[in-house]
Amino acid sequence: MKNDLKDKLFLVTGGSKGIGSAIVKKLYESEARVAFTYNNNQIAAEEIISSLGNKNNRVKCYKLDVRNYDDIEQLITLIEDEMGEIYGLVNNAGITKDGAFFRMQPSDWNDVINTNLNGVFNVTKSFGGRAIRRGAGKIINISSVSGMKGSQGQANYASSKAAIISLTKTLAREFASFGVQVNAVAPGFIATEMVDAMPDSAKKKINSMIPMKRMGNSEEVASAVKFLASSESNYITGHTLVIDGGLTA
Ligand code: NDP
Repeated sequence: MKNDLKDKLFLVTGGSKGIGSAIVKKLYESEARVAFTYNNNQIAAEEIISSLGNKNNRVKCYKLDVRNYDDIEQLITLIEDEMGEIYGLVNNAGITKDGAFFRMQPSDWNDVINTNLNGVFNVTKSFGGRAIRRGAGKIINISSVSGMKGSQGQANYASSKAAIISLTKTLAREFASFGVQVNAVAPGFIATEMVDAMPDSAKKKINSMIPMKRMGNSEEVASAVKFLASSESNYITGHTLVIDGGLTA
């Protein structure tokens, strides 16, 4: 079967670690070309490129803070000058600033909304216009099960991730007739650095709540993103694919 991802260019935000780096690797291993962004971790980003071998310069990293709307059009122009037309966008960059609602400071609220939600708006505005003009493209937003069922201590994060699901559905409707599909994935507990830092007792408790009795891994999220990035999913738009071992079933 023809590999339709071959040589297509994807932009992945927040690709320097965790789920984002797994998505970069998965797309690269699928013979796609990948431009990914880091915010602070330039060294980690460069290590990813070296670990992949970077045959034919198929992967490059760029610095981007997704909160800065004014920088994005310029960055996307630079990427397209250096690597060619971007076919797909994975809005992955995200942060948490957890705390009980009554202790949550306006800065904790605003930082998370600015990064997780406004960041998706910012990058999608610039990329979406190009994809629409070209009549083809895929946008994949990384939401979370926290945005589907709420999550104690995560009022800011859960709100941002719920809004992403709604934005995904809305853009799917607005972009459908232009040949651009917009979907989301909603991971449950995924064993990234953030989760690794938890005490064993907390991890045990989480595992016991999951019907599959284990957390997911970044690679499993990346596989779902690859599916939504490929032509295998061409008739799917506005969907949120849940990857949670049955947690929300
Ligand atoms: P990590 O903290 O491991 O990685 C976050 C990435 O986002 C890094 O590359 C970081 O860049 C980048 N980033 C952070 N802030 C900004 C910013 N302002 N502008 C641009 N990039 C930024 O997170 P995860 O891999 O755990 O999470 C990735 C996505 O998956 C997030 O959207 C998260 O909400 C979602 N998710 C994660 C789950 C989990 O269990 N881990 C579960 C459900 C959803 P740098 O390091 O260079 O600063």
